[in-house]
Amino acid sequence: CGGAAAQEMQTAQVFAMDTVMGLQATGGETAEALAAAEDEIYRLDEELSRTREDSAVSQLNRAEAGTSVEVGAELYDLIARALAFSQATDGAFDITLAPVSSAWGFTEDAYRVPAQEELAGLLAHVGSEHVHLDGASAVSLDQGTQIDLGAIAKGYASDAVAAIYQEHGITHGIVDLGGNTWVCGGNLKGEPWRIGVQDPARAGEAEAYTGILRMGDGFAVTSGGYQRYFEENGKTYHHIIDPATGHPAESGLTSVTVVADGTVGNGTMCDALSTALFVMGEERALDFWRSGVYDFDLILVTEDGRLLVTDGIADRFQPDETAGYAYE
Ligand code: ADP
Ligand code: MG
Ligand code: MG
Repeated sequence: CGGAAAQEMQTAQVFAMDTVMGLQATGGETAEALAAAEDEIYRLDEELSRTREDSAVSQLNRAEAGTSVEVGAELYDLIARALAFSQATDGAFDITLAPVSSAWGFTEDAYRVPAQEELAGLLAHVGSEHVHLDGASAVSLDQGTQIDLGAIAKGYASDAVAAIYQEHGITHGIVDLGGNTWVCGGNLKGEPWRIGVQDPARAGEAEAYTGILRMGDGFAVTSGGYQRYFEENGKTYHHIIDPATGHPAESGLTSVTVVADGTVGNGTMCDALSTALFVMGEERALDFWRSGVYDFDLILVTEDGRLLVTDGIADRFQPDETAGYAYE
């Protein structure tokens, strides 16, 4: 990425993974890059979706418990990475929540509040220890365990598109896969890209931001309870589940944005960590950031109206005063 600016950005819109995605690129083989990116996103949707019956993930979920299923090197590696993120986050990130998400109706769009006994029964099959990596390309699941890569698939797709842009010599680009953003090369005026971070309190409103992040090259991935939820008896239930309870995470955070440099691979990391840190809450999230296990920065929005930004990006983040957060 980078280099002499071309005249204008070419754009493409893709609907996949339940998300409207926007691609922009210029320089290099732009049309080829956009076409290849689109194909790649559809391919990954077909491979990784839990709701498509013929996806590799569905075939694994349907297989008889304990049978080793040949999933191919790509899915195997992604599952292996997901298990590593579970371990690193003390289980806050967990791809085996699939049956729990279904019980809440998030997978099937049939929302309900499951009974405590039902959740307890399902939670017995949740946890990385129920997923087994066999050899170099096969996986088996324990009885009652199913996987859902929804918290990591878009990040993985953004890595794949970033790689395609690089292969095609794109000099300036934006890949926006619904809250999973990769930018490269800065804008055509030679400035960093400006990435708006959605204000969770004004979800659904266009250009309602907690602030703007300026970034030439990098990933920024946001997870928030506002992205998918339902209401019942005056209470709101959202789609990010705390594996410790089987309930939507109530960690005191309303959104988590994870920011990292643009190296291919970081998109997957940012997606996994934004989900995990949302579950972990402010204190655990900041401890995890300080631990330095992974190299990233954070924008946290708390339920009690605070906005926290870590040192590495503080000089690149401009809070939006009209959003009314106390900036720390
Ligand atoms: P979005 O889907 O809005 O991009 P996330 O990346 O945070 O948001 O992923 C949330 C999705 O991941 C949920 O819809 C569900 O399928 C799955 N999920 C929910 N809770 C967890 C969790 N604690 N760990 C891993 N995956 C989860
Ligand atoms: Mg995620
Ligand atoms: Mg996501």
